[in-house]
Amino acid sequence: MNFKENLKKWVGLDRHTPYVRNYFYMTNMKASIYMSLIVAALEVWMIIRMFHTVATQDIWDKFWSVAEKYFANYFLLLSSGLLMLLYALRALYDIRKLRWLSPAVILMSGAVAVFEVWLITQYDPQTRTGVDLFNYIANLAASLFMTVFSVLLMKNQKDRKWQSLTLMYVFSFVEINFGLIISVNGYAKGEQMLTFLTMELFVICLLTWRPWLGFIVLTFSYLVFYYRISGMLDLSTVGSFKGVVDFSEYSPGLGDGIKINGFTMWLSTLMFCIANYRKTMSQAEKDEDLEAVNAHLSKISVCDELTGIHNMVYFRTEAEKMLGYVTTDKDNSVFLFMDIENFKSYNEKYGFTEGSELLARVAKMIEGIFTGALVSRLSDDHFVVYTTLDDCKEKVSEVSVKIHNMQREVHLELKCGAYKPGPDDHDPSLACDRARFACNSIKKHYNRHFQFYDKKLEEKFRLKQYIVNNIDTAISGGYIRAFYQPIIDTEMGTVCGLEALARWQDPKYGLLPPGVFIETLEEYRQIHKLDREIIEIVCSDYREAADEGRAVVPVSLNFSRLDFELYDVGAFLGEMTEKYNVPREFLDIEITESALTDQQEFIQKTVDSLRDSGYKVWLDDFGSGYSSLNVLKDYQFDVLKIDMKFLSGFGSNEKAAQILSNIVMLTRQLGMLSLTEGVETQEQFDFLRQIGCNRVQGYLFSKPCPKAELLGKIDEGKLNISKEYLDPTA
Ligand code: C2E
Ligand code: MG
Ligand code: MG
Repeated sequence: MNFKENLKKWVGLDRHTPYVRNYFYMTNMKASIYMSLIVAALEVWMIIRMFHTVATQDIWDKFWSVAEKYFANYFLLLSSGLLMLLYALRALYDIRKLRWLSPAVILMSGAVAVFEVWLITQYDPQTRTGVDLFNYIANLAASLFMTVFSVLLMKNQKDRKWQSLTLMYVFSFVEINFGLIISVNGYAKGEQMLTFLTMELFVICLLTWRPWLGFIVLTFSYLVFYYRISGMLDLSTVGSFKGVVDFSEYSPGLGDGIKINGFTMWLSTLMFCIANYRKTMSQAEKDEDLEAVNAHLSKISVCDELTGIHNMVYFRTEAEKMLGYVTTDKDNSVFLFMDIENFKSYNEKYGFTEGSELLARVAKMIEGIFTGALVSRLSDDHFVVYTTLDDCKEKVSEVSVKIHNMQREVHLELKCGAYKPGPDDHDPSLACDRARFACNSIKKHYNRHFQFYDKKLEEKFRLKQYIVNNIDTAISGGYIRAFYQPIIDTEMGTVCGLEALARWQDPKYGLLPPGVFIETLEEYRQIHKLDREIIEIVCSDYREAADEGRAVVPVSLNFSRLDFELYDVGAFLGEMTEKYNVPREFLDIEITESALTDQQEFIQKTVDSLRDSGYKVWLDDFGSGYSSLNVLKDYQFDVLKIDMKFLSGFGSNEKAAQILSNIVMLTRQLGMLSLTEGVETQEQFDFLRQIGCNRVQGYLFSKPCPKAELLGKIDEGKLNISKEYLDPTA
């Protein structure tokens, strides 16, 4: 900042921001309340005192001459004080009811005005000075001003800044002028002249003035004061007191003492005025900065950074409020959950930045279509809307069409689930969950983009909630079981391994297959709890069987992608194999192809380190995803499990057989063992053996079953263990 700007700032000639301007305004209105209260109280007391003095002395003939000096001023001060108080209360606290006091102000200031007019008509230059006339006119103007502003107060309900400020300036003028009159009169009589100084301090120090304005007010009033008391050297000329007071004994003069003290007083008050201004200014600037930071924080706390529309914090708070209002027509409201199907592929093809841009465009587009509704991004490519039921389907169709139009080479499709809140629904999160559930139910259903949450879905949803809420109980209560399905060596027809498959034996719902709970546990990032439990059960079963002297075969375990994110799989396996003394080559790790698409480097390292630690890593469900062949290029596996859908077309579809034999050949060439899942018929088995598939698994041999049942089948000779796992000494 250069010198000129600094100077401007110092004298208060710089431009204030609206915030600072308002801050000063509020500060002055607060100070005005104290000032006006004190003034009003003082004046009431003075008026009472005046009447009392006059009445008791019974000198009515003196009344008018005294009244001329005091009466009008007291009432003028009282009415201006009262009016200022009303204006300040309205500005600060929006108190408007006290307006009914303004007629009192009108009455008082009106009386003063009439009185001043009468004085002016009585003006005689022989007995009165020009200063007297000035005072009459000034008081008349001020009293008329008060009358007009009282009417304005009655009329205007809301705060008008210019009015309150103008009133404040006039109020200040009335106070200083009053101080001047009283002190000049006092001085003339050789009495105290503190009133002027008190009023000066009052006005300059209680209110905050820009320094240049404070300087003008102070200097001007001091000069007037100086002029008026210095003019009193010849006291016989002081008009209004001629014949009233005998001045002959007084001759105060304007000594050096008064001059020096007056100057010191003027200077100190001015310094205080500047210091006060600087202090208020710096406080205002600090507050403004703080306000800006707060505004920024509150904006980002309710806005979604990526798309700029509201975030879920805002959505939940507002939706909860709306669900709570009795005025909300819940019957005509609906929660929508929208998902852009295939967005992942778009991201993969065009990159993260373009993906984010698309999301931002979609967000704005949804917001535009659902004007007036609550719209937020829940996560990824998921949006939620709380809107009216009437036309929601049409609007969703519009969004769907627009999303179609936004697609490039990657096909994008909108899926939307809807939930109509009931009278007892108060939780927006649960409502969104239900809408999401409805949405998920139509995923992969081509041609369907809208689904209401209905009774059937309700049942499923309840089960899902039950699963999420009870996974810990299920583990501690022993409801989680490991079922085993044998894996058959094609050449020998014997059991060379087992796959551990989770089951949930629930006291309320009965035996639940993994199809019911795996996806839910993955969605709520709880899957690791189940998988760790299965690992422990498998290890413990191994130990028990080995301790019983039974032949044991390797067991393959299913892992979810999240397992690798949520805990250190290698460390946990190490801990379990140690605890139950299980050789590492007896545990195989199945990873599905879909687990390998993202976070490639991290999973690749984990796969390598698990293989290095002595576990075999299998690729599960090969052929069910999009990027199977790439996965084979990037990772090294020990066994390739060919997805059972290749067998489903077997017999009717010529190509199925050809594809299968080629996959088997490819597996061999890449140095892996092949395993085909879902073998249900002898014909399928014969074919697989013929094309050289190493292993098979399927209902033809056994469904997954509890350990005891499996051991029974082995004992009965329905299943035979491969030679290599039989103890030659047994
Ligand atoms: P998966 O690992 O591919 O398991 C094979 C699934 O195919 C099993 O279903 C099994 O019962 C079924 N299956 C086996 N042979 C046949 C057959 O001949 N015909 C037919 N139609 N089906 C057959 P299940 O047990 O319902 O498991 C389904 C999926 O759940 C598993 O697929 C696996 O991905 C997952 N899963 C199972 N247990 C666990 C677990 O402990 N952890 C994790 N993360 N996932 C698990
Ligand atoms: Mg598996
Ligand atoms: Mg599989």
